[in-house]
Amino acid sequence: MIIEAKNINKYYGSTYALKDFSLGIPKGSSFALLGPNGAGKTTFLKALLDLTPVDSGEITINGISSLSEKSRKGIGYLPEKFTFFDYYTVEGVLIFYGKMKGINKGLAEQIEAVVLKTKITELQQRKVKTLSKGQMQRLGIACMLMGDNDLLLLDEPFTGLDPIGIKDLKEILRGLQVEGKTLLINSHILSEVEQICDQMAILNKGELVVEGKITELAGDASLEDFFYEKIKS
Ligand code: ATP
Repeated sequence: MIIEAKNINKYYGSTYALKDFSLGIPKGSSFALLGPNGAGKTTFLKALLDLTPVDSGEITINGISSLSEKSRKGIGYLPEKFTFFDYYTVEGVLIFYGKMKGINKGLAEQIEAVVLKTKITELQQRKVKTLSKGQMQRLGIACMLMGDNDLLLLDEPFTGLDPIGIKDLKEILRGLQVEGKTLLINSHILSEVEQICDQMAILNKGELVVEGKITELAGDASLEDFFYEKIKS
């Protein structure tokens, strides 16, 4: 398992975001974290990165506690709403991310590769404040790709993308799968998830409802029907 979460409890005031939540994510899998609004999906991703402290339980990534900075080496993260300082250029943002990832040698080449992949080459000198929602999301994806990552955490990655952007992102994700990377994807777009992911966990009100291989769990039903049934019951 690349990620092991054991008995996580997280509450905001009196609201439970995660309740005795345990989950293992196999290395090399493409894992979907599904659940209705407020189920606790974003909280879990943030807990993995220690962006939000949990109240109890423990998480390890590659066997290292998520509380240790070392656990974050090799993780690419696309937050639910990617933002950056308005006055930076696209290239400036990527340089910032590259440096944060410790890339010095080959930074320009890496930036060239990620802007090509995310199709934002022509936007490199544009200021962040001039980008459309979809362009901003593409920049977020480019930042996630910076560095040599084994684990990619994507929170609602299809948000703001047009149909071409969605297709491009799926191609990028398939490329990462071929390279053996682990993908953990929070999403409401079940039709896209079904095309990319092999495993899933469904959360509801902070609790794990079901987890396993998508084809084994859903059987002949569509993921949408399976999801609806699980959430309803
Ligand atoms: P969505 O699909 O709507 O993005 P989610 O599954 O990602 O939802 P979370 O954002 O993890 O859900 O939220 C889980 C619960 O924790 C919700 O009840 C939410 O209102 C609550 N919550 C999240 N962040 C905070 C916060 N900073 N302060 C108070 N409550 C919070």
